[in-house]
Amino acid sequence: MLFSHRTTARAFFLLLAVGVFAGTTNAAAEVPEVTAFPVVGNVTYTDDFGDPRPQGSHEGNDIMSVRHQPAVAFVSGRVQKWSGSGSYGTCMLYLHAKNGMTYVYIHLNNDLGPHNDNDGGCKNGVSYAKGLHNGDHVSRGELVGFVGDSGDANGIQPHLHFEVRKPSGNAIDPFKYLNKAKHLLFPRPGADLGEVKLTLKGSTVLSKTDSTITVRTKRVVVQPLGLDYRNVRKVTFAVPPETNVERKGGTGTFSTIDISSAQVGERARVTTITFTPTWASQKAPAGEITAAKILLLGD
Ligand SMILES: [Zn+2]
Repeated sequence: MLFSHRTTARAFFLLLAVGVFAGTTNAAAEVPEVTAFPVVGNVTYTDDFGDPRPQGSHEGNDIMSVRHQPAVAFVSGRVQKWSGSGSYGTCMLYLHAKNGMTYVYIHLNNDLGPHNDNDGGCKNGVSYAKGLHNGDHVSRGELVGFVGDSGDANGIQPHLHFEVRKPSGNAIDPFKYLNKAKHLLFPRPGADLGEVKLTLKGSTVLSKTDSTITVRTKRVVVQPLGLDYRNVRKVTFAVPPETNVERKGGTGTFSTIDISSAQVGERARVTTITFTPTWASQKAPAGEITAAKILLLGD
């Protein structure tokens, strides 16, 4: 009995050693330090991983948002689209990172209009970014799709069910990774679309200097992607001497003025220069993005 006991102990030790070795080789299969928050714009979410749900334990976090809000690649990887059957079928996206981790996007948009019409299906331009194909490589922060309520979220608040899966397929809690992820001002188009121009509609002036303006943004329009979505945040734009600053007069006329005439609290529409988006500009730290035109609209 003692002998067999020792054999069992040895076998167990060997298993442990194999486990440690496997752990070492999988060390790279982790969530990177720097990631893009998978939804652009204002969201709410809680640590609801493991919560009891009708289908079983909840295997991700639900990121509450609004219909058609842009979804971006959390990390760089290859995309795989998946859709369920029927008009209520779930529109999903798998993002496979090189290290074996997989990120799953569920309940992507299936509506054509502003309401829950279920008329769009799981298609490019509806659920997924235009021109996105299975197997495409996307980079961190690149537009991959749109938030919605497809599948068993039909008719409830649009949200992104986001999962983080190990190479083994086991889901782990995304919460701490979401908390660390960088919130972006805008999604990056695919490589072949190149440059972007942003228009910040309905912004409010918070402060100004001789060479900057700080606004609270409201809606962001991204060309050439044709996106127009809500993203409320503070952004400081560079205002070089060549920026065109105009004030709208009471009679609908426009007069060119100096940035020093901007009033704190007044509404403004900022149009940026056309620029090549970078990871830095997507995060929009102070002065990173240059204004081409500022239209001041009064209170
Ligand atoms: Zn969920």
